[in-house]
Amino acid sequence: MHAQVDAFTHTCFMVTPYDAYVDVCAELAELTPGDHAKKSALFNSGAEAVENAVKIARTATGRDAVGVFDHAYHGRTNLTMAMTAKNMPYKHGFGPFAGEVYRAPMSYPFRDGLWGAEAAARAVDVLDKQVGADNLACLVIEPILGEGGFVVPAQGFLPALAEWCRDRGVLLVADEIQSGFCRTGDWFASDHEGVVPDLVTTAKGIAGGFPLAGVTGRAELMDSVHVGGLGGTYGGNPVACAAALGAIEEMRRHDLTARAREIGATMTARLEALRAEHPVIGDVRGRGAMMAIELTAPGTTDPDPARTAAVAAYCHQQGVVTLTCGTWANVFRFLPPLSIPDHLLDEGFDVVAEAFAATA
Ligand SMILES: *Cc1c(COP(=O)(O)O)cnc(C)c1O
Repeated sequence: MHAQVDAFTHTCFMVTPYDAYVDVCAELAELTPGDHAKKSALFNSGAEAVENAVKIARTATGRDAVGVFDHAYHGRTNLTMAMTAKNMPYKHGFGPFAGEVYRAPMSYPFRDGLWGAEAAARAVDVLDKQVGADNLACLVIEPILGEGGFVVPAQGFLPALAEWCRDRGVLLVADEIQSGFCRTGDWFASDHEGVVPDLVTTAKGIAGGFPLAGVTGRAELMDSVHVGGLGGTYGGNPVACAAALGAIEEMRRHDLTARAREIGATMTARLEALRAEHPVIGDVRGRGAMMAIELTAPGTTDPDPARTAAVAAYCHQQGVVTLTCGTWANVFRFLPPLSIPDHLLDEGFDVVAEAFAATA
């Protein structure tokens, strides 16, 4: 990055291309699921990547409709607000929203108790009856929900959706913006069930905090868009690309997928121990270093956002930053940096344990 700043900081890739952008695309082609021919386009933010994935899907299919899921989060621009499920705080007062966005029920094992195939059948029935597969350009899904509560869909749900999409010419778009880049213990959350999406959106973990996002897809889909149809002044900024190349190199060198699994094992043990003591913890879930607990009235699925807020406030007072999420604001999501040393992870969870005891 420092070398890149010294060399040049901006040209606008569409005017004067540079190596770092192409190198990031080559990494994305190698790392994202599937070994088909791929191309990528780079943008500034996750929301912008999702918008562009929809543009590509619409051009490639000649169809308008976009299928999304309950509890989804896809960003804060007009189209991505329409795709996001939760009103407050993401949408309230900000409408009217983009049209042709349709919502299907998500697999949520803790709440619906359905097997993956059953939950997929429920979702595609809504899409078939309310939209019609022939009108659908794409289904956009977070393979593990982010803001929506770190919900891991039941096993078989994603493969069944992928098969339905393939049979009907609907493109499957995996929004891996939160779940990608080693977070779940694999490079991408889609990898755990061998799902190969047609398009993948990436951001967050890609560039060590620098603004960079990508859409990676089947080459023929990416090439279906007319010349000049996709782009932006700053997308794929050279310094951000250098940051991404450095970040990816570190992920490989330190085998951060393996480290995420280790962190996940530690967190699972701590969270299961906590659940044994505090029946307000109704569910422990997640993959790798993407874990969550859902707080409910004991023995029920009635959300307990008040206790969640109390535990969060206690942690904050002790200097531990916790993040809540979920449609009912009753979920703690734990997504420590993949570089966190064990002693800090333990110290953090000691405070979380104290917080549950202190607010009981
Ligand atoms: C954060 C996020 C986005 C939006 O990314 P921004 O860079 O904040 O625009 C989209 N999808 C998912 C799943 C996210 O977690």
